[in-house]
Parts: sequence; structure tokens; C-alpha cells
Amino acid sequence: MSYELVIGLETHVELSTESKIFCSCGGHSAAKEPNDCVCPACSGMPGMLPVMNKRVVELAVTAGLMLNCEISRYTTFDKKNYYYPDLPCAYQITQLNHPICTNGCVTIKTSGGNRDIRIKQIHMEEDAGKLVHGGKSSFVDFNRTSVPLIEIVTQPDFRSAEEVVTYLNKLKSMFRLGGISECEEGAMRCDVNISIRPEGSTEFGVRTEIKNMASFEAIEKAIRYEAQRHMDALDFGTEELVQETRRFDDVSGKTFAMRNKETEADYRYFPDANLMPIIIDDEWLEQIKANKPVAVDEKAEEYREAGIFDKEIDMLLASHKIAKLLDDIVALGCDAKDGAAWILTDCAGILRKDGKTLGELAITPEKLSAIIKMVDEGKINRGAGKKILIAVIEEDVDPVAFCAQQGLDRKVDTSMIEQIIDRVMADHPQAIEDYKNGKTKAAQALFGACMKELKGAGDPAVIKELLEEKLKNA
Ligand code: ADP
Ligand code: ZN
Ligand code: MG
Repeated sequence: MSYELVIGLETHVELSTESKIFCSCGGHSAAKEPNDCVCPACSGMPGMLPVMNKRVVELAVTAGLMLNCEISRYTTFDKKNYYYPDLPCAYQITQLNHPICTNGCVTIKTSGGNRDIRIKQIHMEEDAGKLVHGGKSSFVDFNRTSVPLIEIVTQPDFRSAEEVVTYLNKLKSMFRLGGISECEEGAMRCDVNISIRPEGSTEFGVRTEIKNMASFEAIEKAIRYEAQRHMDALDFGTEELVQETRRFDDVSGKTFAMRNKETEADYRYFPDANLMPIIIDDEWLEQIKANKPVAVDEKAEEYREAGIFDKEIDMLLASHKIAKLLDDIVALGCDAKDGAAWILTDCAGILRKDGKTLGELAITPEKLSAIIKMVDEGKINRGAGKKILIAVIEEDVDPVAFCAQQGLDRKVDTSMIEQIIDRVMADHPQAIEDYKNGKTKAAQALFGACMKELKGAGDPAVIKELLEEKLKNA
């Protein structure tokens, strides 16, 4: 029989906040050593009380706005009770009854056209710690306990693994752009609920939930395996399908039963009396809306209209910081396409030499735009601009002062360039001899020597032309 896949996702995302959700310990990725970022509250000492981190609410609402959700004006926390060594309070603070966002929708582009994925809800919760197993002992690391998460729950609207991965990639760019999360490895975890039904049927089949996928590739593999297992069960009676939670094993590419799916009652949920309900009034909501970044699609379109290539757009949108830097220099009067080239080619190239990535770029929009403007206005050539950029990135110098100090902005007339070429040629008789004997490489060496003398000033094309002219006549 021919079947249709039905998939719903529960995606956990660690928020990029300075501190944890209910205490002032450093947030996600602040820790260097195990149990570095731990206090009596997040390690579950008796009598400690949670204090809500306002920023978490703002980021959760921002995520909700980006996913076209209704924002709850009254939102509360509940305790989800279970015992596990990485959960020091024996309950997780989460939201069951009044989640912060509901009824959203996100459109994804797939090979079969546009698809709308409905968002059931987004809720805020705290992460659990980590168990580290070594030899005869196991260790517990509480750095991650109480790191803020949002969980985005979709309706069962996906019909293929391709749609799932497209959606996850979209969430990722959205959240990076929104400063909600950098979504590095491990900061975005996804549980996949899956069932199958005969093509054309409107009823849902038995669903299983798969956990423990470390990458988008693993998610695709898990979906393929699980769908086949369901089909074999229905077509050939290989086994009886039951609603359960299964673990994906990356090595074998198979899923294994973990536990029967818990029901809500198993967790003995009850309202957390230690946390007051949060009221989001008009003023606060307007404030959050005002700071909301434009949606990924709109942003991409804006860049496309500015003449930026698709590949560059992907690189810009891969990081909130980088897209914002470009927007900031554009606001300071730079051209978007030109600015994108400065960031993606020049800045990235300088960082790459030091073994760094673009994400590590630390330059203020003011300094970058000052350099670009000096070049645009013809005060300096691009080579000199690049030289200043290196000094700004590596030593955080002031671009205008550095330019003056290094004499990069001095007006370079051709007669001066010619003088320098003459001097260089006089200093390198062997190179000229080589050139005459057909070693064209010698011209390169002379050109380099001239550039060095000129300290990056003067138009390289002009220098090259004059040099070639002189060599021909030498
Ligand atoms: P529970 O309360 O058991 O966690 P939810 O209604 O919250 O169930 O759904 C959890 C996830 O499972 C959601 O993402 C939802 O879209 C998905 N889901 C529900 N029913 C099915 C189904 N029959 N097939 C695939 N996914 C499903
Ligand atoms: Zn703490
Ligand atoms: Mg659920």
C-alpha cells in the first residue's frame, strides 16, 4: 500500500542570554570547566527560590512574533516532576497550562512548492544538567541546569524529511537573525513525532517519538528508518506499533524503544507557586515588537534588491552579528553590496589568516564605515583601506588617525610613482636583466618592491602600467 508520512516536531533551543533563567549564573556557553556556572539555586539546594530573567520572556516573545504566534498576555510556570540525577530539584520548571505563545504559522519553500507549518505553541523552560559517564563512576555537571530554553511545538504538518530539514534550517536563520540563539551544535535539539497513514486517509496512525539525533543528517536518517519500520509493521505484520519514545542510534542508523510514552499524568504537573504569573502589558509588548528584527525572508529580499548574491545572503543571514553589522554600516551611509564585500571578503579573509571565523569579527560599524568611506571618497585606494582594516581588526586602532599616521592618504601623483619605480629599478639591475631574458616573473618582484616603497598608497593598476612601460623601454 502507498502511505503518507505525518510528522510533528518539538524543537528545543537554548537562548543566548547573559544569565540563566532563574538565577544570575552565566548562561549558555559561559562555562569553561564542569560546574563553573553553578549556584545554590540552580543546583537545587533546599529553600532556594527562582527569580525570573526578564530577557527570557522578551526573547520567547520575539521568537513568537517571528513565527506569527498569538502572544499570551498572562503566562505561568508549572513543575514537571520526575527523578533523574541531572535534575537536582527532581522537577523541571516549564509551562503547561499557559504557554507564552500559541497558534503560529511558518511558511517553508520546498521542491513541491510553499508549505504552511502550523506552530501549536512555544513555551519557556529550564534545561537539565549533563551526566558524564567515565569508567566505574558517573559525574554530573550542573552548568546547563536552568539554562533557558524555548520549545517550539508544531502541529503534525510535515509530510517528508525534506520539509523537516527545511523548517529547521529556517528556524536556525530566524533565531540567529533575531539574536534569540546562535543555534550552535547542541543548542538546538529536536524530537521527531512520526506516524504513517494510507494515502488519502484523514485519520492519524500510531505515532512514535524519536530522540537523540545530533545533527540534521541524523534527523533525516531517523525519519527514513522509522517510516520504513512503520510500513513494514503495517504491510507485513513484522511487529505491533505502539505509542512510545525511541532513541536513535547514529552508528547503526536504527531506532530503539526507550520507554512507553509518558502521559501528562505521569509527571504530576502542578503550578509553580514560587513564580508569579507574568503579565505582558501593551507597553512591554510594543517595546518588544519595536526591537523585533525583520523576518528572514524580508531581510533576504532586501539584500537581494541591493544586488547582493544569494550565496552572500546566506552567509550574512547565518549570523545575527554579521547581518546587523551590515545594516549598521548601511545606516551610516555605506552601499549595501559594497559593504557586504568588505565584510564577507576583506574582514573574513583577515580573520581566516589568524585561524578565526567571521563569527569572531569584532569591529564597530563606525570604524568599518569610516574606512569604506575614505575609499569611496577617493581619499585612499582600496589597498590602503585594506591595510587600515587589518590594523583595526588586529589592534583596534582608530582608522582615520592610523591612516594619517601611516601617510596612507597622501596624494600620490604619477610623477612620484615614477620616481619610485625608477629608484626600485636602479636598485634591482639583476631583475631587469632577468626580465629582458624572458623571465616575466621578475616584473612581479619589482612590482612588489614598488608597492612596498609606496606603503600601499597609489593605485596598483596605475603602478603596474607605468612599471611595464618602463620595463619595455629598459
Ligand atoms: P503530547 O501531549 O503527547 O506530547 P502533543 O499533542 O503535545 O502530544 O504532540 C506532541 C507532538 O507530536 C506535536 O509536535 C504533534 O504535532 C505531534 N503529533 C501528534 N500526533 C501525531 C501523529 N499522529 N503523527 C505524528 N506526529 C504527531
Ligand atoms: Zn545558578
Ligand atoms: Mg507535548
